[in-house]
Amino acid sequence: MALIRSADGAPRGWGFVSLRSQIRVRMLTFDPGEPFDDSTLTALIAGAIRRRPPSGAARLVHAESDGLPGLVVDRYGDTVVFAISSAGLERRADAVARALGEHAPSRSLYERSDGDGRTQERLPPRSGLVAGAEPPELVPVPEATHDGGSVTLLVDVRRGHKTGGYLDQAESRRVVGALSRGADVLNLFSYTGGFGLHAAAGGASSVLEIDSSAPALAVAARAAAENGLGDRIAHRRADAFEALRALEAEGRTFDVVVVDPPKLAAGAAHVARASRAYKDLLRLSLRIVRPGGHVAGFSCSGAISAALFQQIAWSAALEAPRDAAIVRRLGQPPDHPVLLTFPESEYLKGLLLRVP
Ligand code: SAH
Repeated sequence: MALIRSADGAPRGWGFVSLRSQIRVRMLTFDPGEPFDDSTLTALIAGAIRRRPPSGAARLVHAESDGLPGLVVDRYGDTVVFAISSAGLERRADAVARALGEHAPSRSLYERSDGDGRTQERLPPRSGLVAGAEPPELVPVPEATHDGGSVTLLVDVRRGHKTGGYLDQAESRRVVGALSRGADVLNLFSYTGGFGLHAAAGGASSVLEIDSSAPALAVAARAAAENGLGDRIAHRRADAFEALRALEAEGRTFDVVVVDPPKLAAGAAHVARASRAYKDLLRLSLRIVRPGGHVAGFSCSGAISAALFQQIAWSAALEAPRDAAIVRRLGQPPDHPVLLTFPESEYLKGLLLRVP
């Protein structure tokens, strides 16, 4: 951590400095009189947790948006998982764990500091149990459905993506659940089947989950069975781009198509290529959706703005060609706040499109 001065030498505040990173300084405070010690860290973590619901699955700390660049904390049932991705917080890992033990008491406190961001900071991957009991192989995580019921997601906190699950899509999963009564639903990039569980619980006639990852689909199949929805949910391991073309060739159609790909643009340099990929996915999805049906399309690339994503959807609709309309904008739930001074923290955007 260092005192950051402006070009004229005036002190401006404190920040984490990492000369190896693309992001040289992560500002922590713009008050030069307030160095960022362990008690400030603990107060920030406690404050972030106080702003979340007292129980249930939630993102407890959302990095910059909670004043804690490089720290993400997710609560899944009675397991709390944290990930550190900045060199500055790496040195405070013990203080982070202590603060979480005090302010987010859990049965298991687990660390998943093994994301891509760490490689750029040249930090070694680290993961494992930090306090409490080993979590079960799959942590059962109840998630409310649109009609006040609930489904149970299964989260692999050891080997799953990021901290194990995608809490950022919880609200959009409910939106899809509400559209699904009697529907045939296609869930592309399904991961462990969150959207599919909500669709089936919402009364879908059939759900087809497609993902390229066998382990993710194995968890999805177990979750479908444990929720008593296995008879209406099928799983197919495939590349989503190829699967869409094959489904179209077979003449298959759906009432609801969910397209939630991984981050296709890693940074500004990849925007053009990623835009083409998003457009392909939306164009193909619009082609296999039935009249009156919906496509829920998402981008979690920070480098693709909401305005650009809408333009991509527009050109996809022109090429499909389907006269689609936006009926709802989808995005980050309140536990993933967007900082006005850091617009890149709005990474997730979605459009719910309806075709005539
Ligand atoms: N919708 C999910 C999260 C999706 S994460 C949820 O709500 O939980 C993105 C998923 O895309 C991952 O599971 C990854 O395995 C899968 N994936 C990545 N590239 C793919 C491809 N080309 N075809 C199919 N799936 C792919």
